[in-house]
Amino acid sequence: MTPDILKSKRVLVVGAGVTGQSVMRYLKKHAVAFDVADSNQQLADKALELLGSGCYITPLSAVAVNDYDVMVLSPGIPRSHAMLQQALAAGVSVVGDVELFAVMVQGPVIAITGSNGKSTVASMAAHVLSAAGRNTALCGNIGTAVLDVLPAEVATAKEEPPVYVLELSSYQLESVESLVPVSAVVLNISDDHLDRYDSIDHYAEVKRTIYAKANRCVANLDDARTHPEPARSGTQWFSLQDTNADYTVQQLEDGSALFAQQQCVLMTEELSVPGQHNVANALAVLALLQPLQLSLAELKLGLTTFKGLAHRTEFITELNGVRWFNDSKGTNVDACMKAVEAMPGPVVLIAGGQGKGVDFSSLREVVTRRVKAVVLLGEDGPLLRKALSGTTELFDVSTLPEAVQLAQELAVSGDAVLLSPACASFDMFDNYMVRGDVFRESVERLVA
Ligand code: ADP
Repeated sequence: MTPDILKSKRVLVVGAGVTGQSVMRYLKKHAVAFDVADSNQQLADKALELLGSGCYITPLSAVAVNDYDVMVLSPGIPRSHAMLQQALAAGVSVVGDVELFAVMVQGPVIAITGSNGKSTVASMAAHVLSAAGRNTALCGNIGTAVLDVLPAEVATAKEEPPVYVLELSSYQLESVESLVPVSAVVLNISDDHLDRYDSIDHYAEVKRTIYAKANRCVANLDDARTHPEPARSGTQWFSLQDTNADYTVQQLEDGSALFAQQQCVLMTEELSVPGQHNVANALAVLALLQPLQLSLAELKLGLTTFKGLAHRTEFITELNGVRWFNDSKGTNVDACMKAVEAMPGPVVLIAGGQGKGVDFSSLREVVTRRVKAVVLLGEDGPLLRKALSGTTELFDVSTLPEAVQLAQELAVSGDAVLLSPACASFDMFDNYMVRGDVFRESVERLVA
C-alpha cells in the first residue's frame, strides 16, 4: 500500500512504541491522515506530542473497527488481539511497517529471520558489504525501523540505492506480504516465543513465510524446519555437517575452512567471533550475499574484521586465568547451549530469568558435559533447578551481582564464567542490554 493509496483510506496506527512512531513519521511525511491506538497512556501522549493536534488517540479496546480501512500494526501487538480479530473479520487490512516499506523500497533487500543469530548475521552481512564499499542500510528488528531508512525522495537513475539488510522477527513476518528479497534465510528454529504461538510448527511456518517471494532461498541443511515448503528450486544450502552443501566447512591440512560453492573463502580460525554457531552464521552470510557478487577478497576482508556484537558470547575480560563472557542475549535454550559449546574451558554458567514457558531439559546434556556449576537466578530459576537436577552443582542467588561474586569463588584458572540465561530478562531488568551491562559492571568491580 503506497502513500498515495493510503491517502484515500481511513488509517489507524496500532501501537505507539518505537515502530508505531516511525510509522507516524512516515505517514506524516507523506501527508497521510491517521489515528493512533495504544492502551498505554504514556506512549499515546508521547505520540500526540510528536504529531501535534488533529489526531485521535484511543485505547485498543475502544477502537471502532468500522471506522477504518487500514490498520498499521506494531509487531509487539499480536494479531490475535480481540480488536484486530474483529477488524480482520470486518475486512480491514492489517499490515505491518515492513509491508509499507516493501512496496516502496528500491534497492536489493536481504532478509534474515530465525530463532537465533538474526542480529549477528544481519550485522555481519552489513559489515561485509560496508567493508567492500557498498552503501548499506541495516534495519528492521535489529534497531532502525524500516520506514526510517527509506530515502525521502524516489532515487534517481544516477544514484545507486543502498543494499537493505533486513532483520525480521516472526511477529513482523505475520504482517507482510509484498516483500521480494534478493535472498532470504531462516537460520534455525528452536523453542522460543511459545507463549505467542500454539506450537513450534506454527512458529516455524510463520518464519518460513520469509521465502514466499524471495528470489533466492537460503536454508540450513542441518535444521529441517528451515527448509522451504514446498521445495524451491535454486535453494542454497548451508551446513556444518554435510560437506557437499553449497556453503560448508571442509577439513584442510592446516585446519578447517569455510567454502562457498566449492571455493575456499577463509580459515575457520580467522573468524574473530567464537563457536560453531558463528561458523554457521558466516556460511549463511556468504550464501545471502552471493547475488551481490562481491569478490573473494572482499568477502574474506569483511568476515575476518567483524568483531561481533555486545551481549552475544562477548568476551569481557580475563581475571586470574578465568575468562568472563557476556551472553545476556542468550534468551532461549538453544542460544545458551551454543554459547556453552563456544566456551574455551570448563564453564561456570549463570542462568535464569523469565523462561517463556519452554522446556529446559534439553540443556541437561551440554550442562553435564561442559558445566561445572550453574548459578541460578530470576523468576524461573526454580524451574531450571528442577530441569537440571542431578547434572552438576546448582546454586541459587537472588541478584546478578551476587551471582558474579559466587561465580568468582567457584571458578579456577582455565575456566570460563558465562552469563547465558536461557531466559528473557524482564523479571529483573528493563531488557537484555541492561542485564548484560549490570553483569559487565559487576565483573569489572571484581578487579577494583
Ligand atoms: P537474534 O537476533 O536472533 O536474537 P543474536 O545474533 O542477537 O540473535 O544472538 C542471540 C543469541 O543467540 C546469542 O546468545 C548468541 O550467542 C546466540 N546465537 C547466535 N547465532 C546463533 C546460531 N546460529 N545458533 C544458535 N545460537 C546463536
